Amino acid sequence: MSDKDIIYLDYAATTPLDNRVMEAMQPYFTQEFGNPSSIHIFGQKADVALETARTQVAELLNAVPGEIVFTSCGTESDNLALRGVCFAQRTRNGANHILISPVEHHAILRTAQQLEKYHGFELELLPVDRYGMIKVEDVANRLRPTTALVSIIYANNEIGAINPISEIGALCRSRAVPMHTDAVQAAAYLNLDVNELHVDLLSIGAHKFYGPKGVGALYIKKGTPIQAVQTGGGQESGMRAGTQNVPYIVGLAEALKLCRQERIQTSKALISMRDVLIKNVLEHVTDSQLTGHPHNRLPNHASFVFKGVDGNSLLMLLDVAGFACSSGSACKTGNPEPSEVLLSLGFFPEWALGSLRVTLGKATQMDDIIRLVEILPALVTRARQV
Ligand SMILES: *Cc1c(COP(=O)(O)O)cnc(C)c1O
Repeated sequence: MSDKDIIYLDYAATTPLDNRVMEAMQPYFTQEFGNPSSIHIFGQKADVALETARTQVAELLNAVPGEIVFTSCGTESDNLALRGVCFAQRTRNGANHILISPVEHHAILRTAQQLEKYHGFELELLPVDRYGMIKVEDVANRLRPTTALVSIIYANNEIGAINPISEIGALCRSRAVPMHTDAVQAAAYLNLDVNELHVDLLSIGAHKFYGPKGVGALYIKKGTPIQAVQTGGGQESGMRAGTQNVPYIVGLAEALKLCRQERIQTSKALISMRDVLIKNVLEHVTDSQLTGHPHNRLPNHASFVFKGVDGNSLLMLLDVAGFACSSGSACKTGNPEPSEVLLSLGFFPEWALGSLRVTLGKATQMDDIIRLVEILPALVTRARQV
């Protein structure tokens, strides 16, 4: 079977570059190769491209250009938000309490754990319901005068659940606590208006919305206490030193523009395929459950657990059958640890070990989904026997 015959259903892991994005980036690798910090004409042209991209991203988020910092990926944006705000807050007013959810991406969770272990911050994890969602009241009950930062994932990469970011943001603002959201998975589909979301910081990464890998952005509301994490030259208003990756930044801006323009239409098509998939899997696979919320989930995202199944065996069987899917967690072959996210939702390990994430994208056809639901029950049965 050639790669062409394999159906890619792992768009939450990464997406292919849109050809229009490739075209927009192309000149900046070769003809327009200048360093945006240089004074001469080569530098000026690169700087124009950089600042045009910044303005474009700012407009798409309803922010101003000075509030956008380009980074090397979603992970770096998350790191800058957490470390940058926590250190600045402690210096400013001694705040040392970090409040996050237990269903954060590792870019947040591991960073917060390191701030606790090595830097003396106190980390508190919020409760989640069985759908993996955070309640505003739970945040309200845990905010302290010494809370340095609240960070809540917008849409979950593993289970697709969407959190009430706007309500949590409004609450944090009323208590004068900075609020960050990891919108890396949400960016292709959900409202990104930072004023409506009431957030102070928001992370995105281009390769989750048909842009290039290795570039991201962090929105930082003007006036937010934050210090740089990567020091050096004064690029990105001193917030992120290092010569900017101009072609990739141009690509991020173009990809964000396109996916925001097309998201309503794309979402509609994806939701109908997603719901066919969910309905059929739950009907035809014994001992199966949906993870995350039935409706309040990303348009392209379906995730399941199957009792008594080794998730990795199932993925290998699917791969041989021509479907590239995921377990949804960072779980690697030979490391059969159940996902922390699924355990925090209350799933027992015998269920959590058998997770499957199917994430759809622009190239997905209803036929692909029909074929998948035809073969899946037998593959799950086989994966139960190993
Ligand atoms: C992919 C992802 C990240 C990490 O982004 P990279 O650009 O791959 O570093 C962070 N958070 C979420 C929710 C993600 O899905």
